[in-house]
Amino acid sequence: MARKAFLTSIRTSFEQAICTLEALGHDIGVDKGLVNQIFSANSTYVVRFGVRLRGEMHTFTGYRSVHSEHFEPVKGGIRYAPNVKQNEVEALAALMSFKCALVEVPFGGAKGGLVIDPRKWSEGELERITRRFTQELSKRDLISPSQNVPAPDIGTGEREMAWIADEYLKLHPAELNAWACVTGKPISRGGIEGRTEATGRGIQYALRAFFDNTRDLKKTGLSSGLAKKRVIVQGLGNVGFYAALFLSTEDDAIVTHVIERSGSIVNQNGINIQKLRDYINTNGTVEGFPGFVPEGTKLLEEQTDILIPAAKELVITETNASSIKAPLIVEAANGPISAEADKILLDMGKIIIPDMYANAGGVTVSYFEWIKNLSHIRFGRMQRRVEEARFGALIEGITSVTGAKFPKHLEKRAIEGGKEIDLVRSGLEDTMRSTYEVISETWNSHQDIKDLRMAAMIVAIKRIAQSYSSMGI
Ligand code: GLU
Repeated sequence: MARKAFLTSIRTSFEQAICTLEALGHDIGVDKGLVNQIFSANSTYVVRFGVRLRGEMHTFTGYRSVHSEHFEPVKGGIRYAPNVKQNEVEALAALMSFKCALVEVPFGGAKGGLVIDPRKWSEGELERITRRFTQELSKRDLISPSQNVPAPDIGTGEREMAWIADEYLKLHPAELNAWACVTGKPISRGGIEGRTEATGRGIQYALRAFFDNTRDLKKTGLSSGLAKKRVIVQGLGNVGFYAALFLSTEDDAIVTHVIERSGSIVNQNGINIQKLRDYINTNGTVEGFPGFVPEGTKLLEEQTDILIPAAKELVITETNASSIKAPLIVEAANGPISAEADKILLDMGKIIIPDMYANAGGVTVSYFEWIKNLSHIRFGRMQRRVEEARFGALIEGITSVTGAKFPKHLEKRAIEGGKEIDLVRSGLEDTMRSTYEVISETWNSHQDIKDLRMAAMIVAIKRIAQSYSSMGI
């Protein structure tokens, strides 16, 4: 290949990890030929389709790349951006395979993209383009509940997923599981509670897991607990917004900088993230919000405890890596650190929580949504009242035997059965915590494994190799 094409396709630290792994010849107990197979993208479909808009025909180019089908359906978002390229989509599809394996979500990896600047088109036009793209993908089974399930990514969200699902339903009216053809849908259109916030929520859980691991935390020199930790976030899109919101309102971290396209907001006492997001929604810019400064990416270099690049790929490169002060970097975006920068940061002793783990919350909750669609029932619907009755009886029993009153503030928590959102959060937290422990064990098990990225990669490759082997490949 494939392999070479893949390695030269995206200059990120993800690629660097593969190269380092090769160079070290680290014995991960997987046959070399199989590793080669794992690094090959299986197929990429390129489609060019015309849509008549504003009185003339416009041609759009779209991609859907399938990296590996060791599990089906294959899974991964569809991004809408003007700079979408085939090799980038392929590398991101590979990243999805590793991500799914790492968090034990039984999907293969895929990714899609449409070359488009969504801001240049009206809602109605975007809907027509999206429906046409869906028809093209459906013709080739590149969207299907059992084979290939897209999701939101950069430039797409619930709205696009609802259009895709609706178009698929029209094309396949007899398909019982049609709603499971795409995830990240609005709740009213077959979505699941907690999917929109899932990637940001996953960042929060990843950080909590890291801070609870005293052995790993020590390597950053940071004190225990997320409270009062200073945070810089780049990008207040879906992922950055929810991560910053939850960290500041639930963990008492102080978000001092939010770096956006139109400038940045700086407030050493902590930015009100909800207010800032509301302001951006109304005004389309951060300009005019208290604390506005015209600087952008330069502020990644400011003094802080935790740096969260949550916007796009390759924002930390060899030009700014040596100026980064944060001891801990969380890759909320896919591939925000270049291969060269990764090496520099590693030499500087920085700890990086890698994208393939940190932002896996999105696909994890997509998995829950897919299962919900296949089972045709909301999580918790059958058992919630039974649980409430059982715990209610238990409390009644305790109070009648002891004669003491059950503390009022605990009663509600003890009785209330799990709603869908509670179950989703519980499943996501468990996934992020248990995955962190596995990566951390691998990281600390061998001196050649110098960082969490390499450790995560090893865990993922081993798991994919296991499923290939059990298929006799
Ligand atoms: N686009 C997201 C990602 O890169 C979500 C993928 C999904 O839910 O399938 O992880």
